[in-house]
Amino acid sequence: MTGKLVIISAPSGAGKTTIVKHLLNSGLNLEFSVSATTRTIRGEEKNGVDYFFLSVPEFKKSVEKDEFVEWEEVYKDLLYGTLKSELEKIWANGNYVLFDVDVMGGITLKKIFGDRAVSIFIMPPSVEELESRLVKRGTDSAEKIRMRVEKAKEEIKLASSFDRIIVNDKLDIAKEEARKIVSSFLEK
Ligand code: ADP
Ligand code: 5GP
Repeated sequence: MTGKLVIISAPSGAGKTTIVKHLLNSGLNLEFSVSATTRTIRGEEKNGVDYFFLSVPEFKKSVEKDEFVEWEEVYKDLLYGTLKSELEKIWANGNYVLFDVDVMGGITLKKIFGDRAVSIFIMPPSVEELESRLVKRGTDSAEKIRMRVEKAKEEIKLASSFDRIIVNDKLDIAKEEARKIVSSFLEK
């Protein structure tokens, strides 16, 4: 296996997707690693672009066939996993891999890839602000938001396991900081 990797993790609602999209448009030869998930398709999402949407039996078959680099039950009964085939494809394209994974997944990937990877934790300014962003985003029910906020409190405790922490208060500043960290890592 070859090539560098960029790992972005954060509690849900911290702004990870927004920052990942910015990095993909920053001309850094980054390609997004499309994960597999058993959750249902949301809003404008497309199968094979945002995720590979699998049934639970399909996902379990991939686990048995050892097709994942890592996988997690991120929320109760919802499985998410990084596919080995995605990494091979991205490196064959001559690009760097960009991951958007949960906090445990980010820690696992950093352990696997070591110095070939930079791991970045996107920190919300506060738990209250995180909840308010999730409410405003309008994609999750009140119960799902409660679940995500509870999980976020635990995930924030793991931030120090990451190479870098970016506080996403002012979005433009956080985007620029992410771009600088990633471009200097890729130039090394
Ligand atoms: P995640 O992928 O971490 O769940 P998103 O990127 O979807 O988070 O961001 C959650 C919501 O917060 C989105 O509606 C996004 O537009 C908004 N958002 C992201 N960053 C900021 C910021 N710095 N200030 C205010 N709103 C933000
Ligand atoms: P969402 O349902 O909001 O798209 O994602 C929920 C969480 O699952 C996010 O924190 C996202 O980063 C994480 N996630 C997405 N793909 C993977 C993956 O392949 N592995 C792991 N461990 N987490 C993932």
